[in-house]
Amino acid sequence: MDFKKITIRHKILIVSLLLTILPVTIVGFYAYDQTEAGTWSQLEGYLNDQLFLEKAYIESTFSLAQDKVNSDLGVARTVFYSNGNPEIVDGQMILGKDYVVNNNFEIVDNVKNMVGGTATVFQVLDGEAVRISTNVITNEGERAVGTTVSQPVYDTVVTKGEMFYGRAWVVNAWYLTAYEPIRNSAGEIIGILYVGVLEDPFINTIRHHMGGIVVGETGYIYIMDSEGNILIHPSIEGENVYEYDFAKDIITNKEGIIAYEWEGREKIAGYTYYEPNDWYIVSNTYYEEFAGPLLAIRNSLIMAVLVFVILGILASFLLSKSISGGIEKIVTDFNDITNATLQGKLDKRANIDVGIDLEAIPRSFNQVLDAVKENEEKLQTFIDNVPVGIFRTNSDGKALQANPEMIRIIGRESKEETLEYMQNVGEQLYVNQERRNELINVLAKQGHVENFEFEALRADGKHAWLMINARTNVKAKPGDNPFLIDGFVLDITERKKAEEALKKTELKYRQAHNILQKVIESPKDVVIFALDKDYQYIAFNQNHQITMEHIWDAKIEIGVNMLDYIKDPADAEKAKVNFDRVLAGEAFTIIEEYGDSLLGRKWYENVYSPLESDKGNVIGLTLFLTNITERKQTEMALLQAKVLAEESNQIKSEFIANMSHELRTPLNSVIGFSQMLNEKIFGDLNEKQMHYVSNIQKSGNHLLELINDILDISKIESGNMEYSPEMTDLKQIMDEIIVLTEPLVKEKNIGFEANSEFEKLEINVDKMKIKQIMFNLLSNAIKFTPKNGKVWFDSKIMNGNIQISVSDSGIGIPLEHQKAIFDPFKQVSSSANRTYGGTGLGLAIVKYYVEMHSGEIHVESEVGKGSKFTFTIPIGLRNA
Ligand code: ADP
Repeated sequence: MDFKKITIRHKILIVSLLLTILPVTIVGFYAYDQTEAGTWSQLEGYLNDQLFLEKAYIESTFSLAQDKVNSDLGVARTVFYSNGNPEIVDGQMILGKDYVVNNNFEIVDNVKNMVGGTATVFQVLDGEAVRISTNVITNEGERAVGTTVSQPVYDTVVTKGEMFYGRAWVVNAWYLTAYEPIRNSAGEIIGILYVGVLEDPFINTIRHHMGGIVVGETGYIYIMDSEGNILIHPSIEGENVYEYDFAKDIITNKEGIIAYEWEGREKIAGYTYYEPNDWYIVSNTYYEEFAGPLLAIRNSLIMAVLVFVILGILASFLLSKSISGGIEKIVTDFNDITNATLQGKLDKRANIDVGIDLEAIPRSFNQVLDAVKENEEKLQTFIDNVPVGIFRTNSDGKALQANPEMIRIIGRESKEETLEYMQNVGEQLYVNQERRNELINVLAKQGHVENFEFEALRADGKHAWLMINARTNVKAKPGDNPFLIDGFVLDITERKKAEEALKKTELKYRQAHNILQKVIESPKDVVIFALDKDYQYIAFNQNHQITMEHIWDAKIEIGVNMLDYIKDPADAEKAKVNFDRVLAGEAFTIIEEYGDSLLGRKWYENVYSPLESDKGNVIGLTLFLTNITERKQTEMALLQAKVLAEESNQIKSEFIANMSHELRTPLNSVIGFSQMLNEKIFGDLNEKQMHYVSNIQKSGNHLLELINDILDISKIESGNMEYSPEMTDLKQIMDEIIVLTEPLVKEKNIGFEANSEFEKLEINVDKMKIKQIMFNLLSNAIKFTPKNGKVWFDSKIMNGNIQISVSDSGIGIPLEHQKAIFDPFKQVSSSANRTYGGTGLGLAIVKYYVEMHSGEIHVESEVGKGSKFTFTIPIGLRNA
């Protein structure tokens, strides 16, 4: 169904139909409901009245029965006590002197003969009451002697000493009973006297009575107990109805009215409870027997409702036709006016001829239109005159509106041309399409854009800077084309120009500032001049004048081409190249050499800057020359000296390396052969020969040591000492060195000790060099310590460094020598040297090797007391 096609007429029709049918139906239902309720309450009253009467009848019947029980008990009492007062003698109940009650049925049979019913005498025995005389006969046809009374009866009569009344099933029938205590002369309860009246005759009376009662046309009264047993009923007496819901409801509620289905027909029943017998008295009938008149009323009501509905439909048709005619006219009219208004025609007014009822509507609408027109005119004047471009686009990004300022900004004559040019979110307008995409993205994301500046290409080909503020009512996703709904545009071209100009001025001032700074910093040497585009002097300072005269013997003048003064053609060419670079707009600083070969060439630091007109065109150049010849000469001299020094050092080192090699070869044979002689491999030697040979060997070894050290030092100095690190256990190296120096220690009987904070410490070092360091320090310590002295090693980790020290209790080093001993060939005294031997190179090598590992070494020492050499090596060591 197309809901848009439901016209006002349909609506009126529906409403008026609802307005007639609803009330008629509601009234109909209400009337029916009322009648039904009335019928119900009548029926309820009827059933309740009957129950009340029936309950009263049952009560009076049973009160008669109770009276009979009481009078029977009176008879039994009289007969019992006429034989004397009771006592228990030898376990038997005796009346008077010697009347035995046990197994004596005279009393009970007499009672039966007089009043009918049953009678019993009980004797209390060991917490029980036992029948000792009775006329109650068991199913086996014997007197029920020896059986006991029930517990509730015992509790009431014997324990509490009260009377007991009640219904009881005695042997084979229901009895209405009474029990009373039998007391001896001391007042103790020794037995119970009982009488019972058969209930049956009383029930039969009630059954007979109920059989005569008719409820409605076919209804009746019946009696049920709380287990659902039907006790009195015209047809189903003796059956059980507990399974039926209605029976359960009756048993639970005890009193009330219930309606239920019985064999497909609706039944209604009133019920009440008679507690003494656990009886439910139920009076029931078929509902239809009472509802006959009600159905008649219902049928006539339905008829009445139908008639009213038909009449209502007719009336609604007529009404809807008359109202909708007028409204449709108004709506059509309003639609026309709205369309006209949207096209800007605000003069159209609504037709008032729509019938007297609805006339007020077009009248008020026309008033609104008048007000709108007035406002619109004011707004239009504002929009036409405001110096802000205002536009509006539709949902396709097509421009719909533009005010006169907008037309001016775009650079067109008419509104139509302007709108045409602004198509598709101003696609033609943007010099930079990236910027347009940016605008679209911001709009899509935020729904609006503020002070968005862009460079525009106007329709007349001119460039302009525009600033746009716009708002879209569409929440588009980023990347979608949002459509601008409203926006305004400011022409900020003038402002941009001003900003640009300001920037240029700032640049110029900055240049001027730099120039000034130069002049201030070095007034003596700075040369300044300015040239125009044809290299002709515009201005120059006195320094320049002097320099030009000095170098080229030139007397310079304003307006003359500068290149004409430069006598060296190469210099002139070089200058021209630089001038052209500046005239092309570049600014730069370079160091150049210029000058007469006769007077010597000079070095300048030259700052080239373009000279610009107000419009930013290059019209010439300025040049600042600073004479840096002296600085340059010093630099060059230093450079030459350095190269020379490095060269000679290299030569020296190479020489030493070669020499050492040449010396070592013959020395090895000197040592080797003297050793062989010493070991007497070639035969015996006399004492003198032995002495000399071992001198040769000792001197040879010393010489070899010296050469090796010299070789190391020269390698170090020529920068050829290689460094090859590997993971090395320092503790292990220390142990190796200790083993190596052991013979020396023993020879001088020196007390040696090694204290280490670590068991194993692997770090990345050049193993051979570390070994050399430790060996040199330890052999020095042993060497400079007298016999029976002490030498010791300490090693620990501190601040990420390994710190190893070698201490001795030896001769010590005077303070003034402590620094020099690390230099090559330095020894504390040459006489001491003769005593102790050595080359004066060991510590120099140690220091260099320690530094190779980024470590440090220092000495603490006191003359006569001893020395302590400590070196450190960082644990996280470089790899190469
Ligand atoms: P040398 O080969 O002469 O031992 P070194 O460079 O190893 O050369 O030592 C330089 C000088 O420093 C030694 O000659 C000695 O005078 C002094 N020296 C070095 N170690 C000790 C020390 N443990 N005790 C006293 N003097 C020392």
